[in-house]
Amino acid sequence: MTTQDAAVRLFHDLIGHAPDGIWSAPGRVNLIGEHTDYNDGLVLPFAIPHRTYAAVGMRSDDRIRVASTFADAPVEVSLDELRSLFPTGAGAQPAVAEWAAYPLGVAWALQLADATAHGIEHGVDIAIASDVPVGAGLSSSAAIEGATASALNELWAVGLDRTALAGIGRRAENEAVGAPTGIMDQMASMLGEADAALFLDCRSLEAQTVGLGMAEAGLAILVIDTRVSHAHSTGGYRERRASCELGAQIMGVPALRDVSVDDLPRAQELMDDVTFRRVRHIVTENQRVLDTVQTLRESGARAIGDLLVASHVSMRDDFEISVAELDTAVQAALDVGALGARMTGGGFGGAAIALVEQHAAPTVTDAVTAAFTASGFTAPHIFPVTPSAGAARDA
Ligand code: ADP
Ligand code: MG
Repeated sequence: MTTQDAAVRLFHDLIGHAPDGIWSAPGRVNLIGEHTDYNDGLVLPFAIPHRTYAAVGMRSDDRIRVASTFADAPVEVSLDELRSLFPTGAGAQPAVAEWAAYPLGVAWALQLADATAHGIEHGVDIAIASDVPVGAGLSSSAAIEGATASALNELWAVGLDRTALAGIGRRAENEAVGAPTGIMDQMASMLGEADAALFLDCRSLEAQTVGLGMAEAGLAILVIDTRVSHAHSTGGYRERRASCELGAQIMGVPALRDVSVDDLPRAQELMDDVTFRRVRHIVTENQRVLDTVQTLRESGARAIGDLLVASHVSMRDDFEISVAELDTAVQAALDVGALGARMTGGGFGGAAIALVEQHAAPTVTDAVTAAFTASGFTAPHIFPVTPSAGAARDA
């Protein structure tokens, strides 16, 4: 059974008839540009083939019901209750099951954004199924937000464009779930295109697609899911954001986006070593995104390997968000000839990516698996990802 069929079946089991439509949105892999998003900086993600499907039907009453193959029981609230459910106060748990805060948060944010004269009067039933690995750094959260936002935007005739819907997803994640994430994941999920990456300026939200030409060049990208689960809303992620804010404050700029590589010597004089290294990662990472886009345009994907490796080293040594499993994956892939490799996503677990010759994919897979065994780590989950299209209506 396809994932899309699973969503329809869940809808049918729950509601007893067919949905009005099916919408889906993909997870994403970030090619380069890590932790730059919330510093108003530059990122270069692409959407992956793994998608979250939402089978959705309008109701005649004012109830909103969400169900997921991922959860034991559906969650139901009224449109009125939704208004008082969120935002969730800082550090507070949502008043609904955490997973339900993603789709309900999207419904809430759309309700607030709705500027149509007719208003939102009717509830909806939402059944969700997904093949995006959860908590692996592939943004199952943006996928569930994107699928739900696309569906409700259409059924409720709110009329927002894709960029605005990415903002709806972010608002849900920040204010309903309480995870302080940037806009990158939602933009990649909403705006991704086949065989292309999305060069996104997180300050202006200006987005350009950059062709990758993977198949033509005989290249593949492997995701190496370390199966070490991360938790965005806690600990290290918040700490890194605080360091970045402190660094920007010391430099007297609104965000680290405004610090250039040439400013780094002055930054080093002004701040403590840890804050400086956090700042140096962000500043050099923004430059690496620019360099990667230029290299892709001038020389193609084969030429970006060293930039990927430099990004990993910066995250490992300066930003200190890697873990032994991610370092092992990157090193083992490079040792057997991967053109480049880096951890991707927020860090502290999750996945790495490796840029490899198509024909070398099995060799790299075996080498990484063997290195994990030798280190006594849980076996990684390794699979190729083709840069794919963003959110869509499927039926
Ligand atoms: P990531 O986005 O890297 O996968 P997050 O912690 O940001 O990890 O988001 C994962 C959370 O999103 C899950 O714990 C769950 O609450 C929610 N989620 C993702 N996919 C689904 C789904 N198919 N059904 C229900 N909830 C989901
Ligand atoms: Mg996420």
